[in-house]
Amino acid sequence: MEFFLEASLKGLSKWLRFFGYKTEICEDKIDKEKILKYKDKTFLITSPNTAKLLQKAGVRYLLLPRESLKAQLTLLIHKLDLTTELRLNLCSICGGELIPVKKEDFKDFIPPRVYQFYDEFNYCPKCKKLYWQGDHIKRLEKRLKNLIKK
Ligand SMILES: [Zn+2]
Repeated sequence: MEFFLEASLKGLSKWLRFFGYKTEICEDKIDKEKILKYKDKTFLITSPNTAKLLQKAGVRYLLLPRESLKAQLTLLIHKLDLTTELRLNLCSICGGELIPVKKEDFKDFIPPRVYQFYDEFNYCPKCKKLYWQGDHIKRLEKRLKNLIKK
């Protein structure tokens, strides 16, 4: 399942990417042209007007509450039965696929302490960001727990 999100849903997009779902953000208005181009994806939106357009076009979409990330995430998980395991295989910034790399090859870019303590590193070839699994994951897990708590 791939998602096409309204620009206001960037926060949600990040979480979907953490779960391993491919997302694309629409920076401008979602119009007929865009709907046609991305019709195979699931549209996530907050505008009832856009919902009307999508319904007319017969495209799969979900109308989400505007204000809270928690409400958005809860509804999405519930309606689409998403897995909420943190796969962290996609770049949370650009959505590109991360590739595992040897830390030796990136030694110059890694803080010495990180280099010492961690072995798993992933790299985004698209935006050249390097990720490592450390405290970051624990923080994310905690935040996720709070977000999807009933
Ligand atoms: Zn990236």
